[in-house]
Amino acid sequence: MALDGQKICVLGAGIGGLAAATALAQRGAEVTVMEQSAEITEVGAGLQIGPNGFAVMRALGAGDALADCSVRAKGVSLLDGTTDKPVFGLDFQRFADDQEYYFVHRADLVDVLAEAARKAGVKIRLLQQVEAVSMQDGHAHVVMKQGGGSSPDVLIGADGLHSKVRVALNGEREPFFTRQVAWRTIVPALGNEPAVARVYMGAGKHLVVYPLRDGKMLNIVAVQERDEWAAEGWNFRDDPANLRAVFADFGPEVQGLLDRVDDVYLWGLFRHPVAENWHKGRVAILGDAAHPTLPFMAQGAVMALEDAWVLADALDKADTVETGLVSYQTRRRPRAARVIDAASKNARNYHLSPGPLRFAAHTALRLGSTFAPSLAMKKFDWIYKHDVTRA
Ligand SMILES: Cc1cc2nc3c(=O)[nH]c(=O)nc-3n(C[C@H](O)[C@H](O)[C@H](O)COP(=O)(O)OP(=O)(O)OC[C@H]3O[C@@H](n4cnc5c(N)ncnc54)[C@H](O)[C@@H]3O)c2cc1C
Repeated sequence: MALDGQKICVLGAGIGGLAAATALAQRGAEVTVMEQSAEITEVGAGLQIGPNGFAVMRALGAGDALADCSVRAKGVSLLDGTTDKPVFGLDFQRFADDQEYYFVHRADLVDVLAEAARKAGVKIRLLQQVEAVSMQDGHAHVVMKQGGGSSPDVLIGADGLHSKVRVALNGEREPFFTRQVAWRTIVPALGNEPAVARVYMGAGKHLVVYPLRDGKMLNIVAVQERDEWAAEGWNFRDDPANLRAVFADFGPEVQGLLDRVDDVYLWGLFRHPVAENWHKGRVAILGDAAHPTLPFMAQGAVMALEDAWVLADALDKADTVETGLVSYQTRRRPRAARVIDAASKNARNYHLSPGPLRFAAHTALRLGSTFAPSLAMKKFDWIYKHDVTRA
């Protein structure tokens, strides 16, 4: 199907929405993005963009711009949180064929994508909050919060975790609280930190830290298993003293980081089912709208980038919008479900309590990274070496 002149409305100017809008416009579609916020902005937090996400950025023509505002990751290091002793390490340059893996501030990634979208001719309309979406004869009917409504010719729901388009395609499905919460914060760097994602592991908790913006700041995500409920969302502040108290038994490296925290957000980790229906008629969903994930593989934004590319490619190659969207779901759902399942299982690996199981797991990891690092890295090839732009 020629996308030339096809009118497409994308709901949401987040990572997935801007990437999809760019990929569609680059194939000739007339794309409008509707975003509820007053400006295209993002919360202050970091993201890891693995090689499979970078492949999409490069194919969109935004690879250099992303690399310029990111820190190129040299590896990952798992440490015992209480002793600071390394348990497992991977050197990307030696054992990952020098694949490009980046640490980026979310605001910088969104700026790069917004610039690429505008360059491709995408119109971005701000302060457009959608109140409700319903389906009529294969089209979406969209009701705006400020009044009025419309039925776009094609609607792509990239409206994130609390997607209205997902509900229109699948009905309401309640997520469940995983009994884990995450704090996120950014602290000033000392300047001598390695360009490595460091994961400090302990019983029922872990903390991840990596540098951002020329190594001038550090992004921290700290996760704890606990029964007490916390809301799901980015904007719930917590007292830094609570974070320090939970990690009080961790070693000097973590204490040194947490001493510098003066502003922290707490966020409940919920598990959502992967949506059954990613499309109906001339409507589709992508990114968190289709498959919100726990953050333990750092692949949520990357999956949104992969979705965006495949959606545009599938529509471009199909005879009709409807068959293009069938092909999009067929190509994407199994992979996204597998990555999300891996992320759900990963928390358990980081949170083992002291005892024989943790001893065995840590010993296996230590031996793996010492004697067979390339084998250890190969375990992740199915994620990182998958390049949707070459499929
Ligand atoms: C702590 C944490 C760490 C993470 N770390 C990583 C990582 O390292 N690597 C990684 O790949 N992923 C990571 N993720 C996941 C990643 O942030 C998400 O998967 C990604 O942002 C999803 O992108 P999206 O475009 O689907 O949705 P979003 O980025 O949420 O964008 C949705 C957009 O839609 C707009 N919108 C929503 N509703 C409406 C409406 N009704 N009307 C109009 N506009 C609307 C919103 O304002 C927003 O702009 C992390 C997540 C968290 C919480």
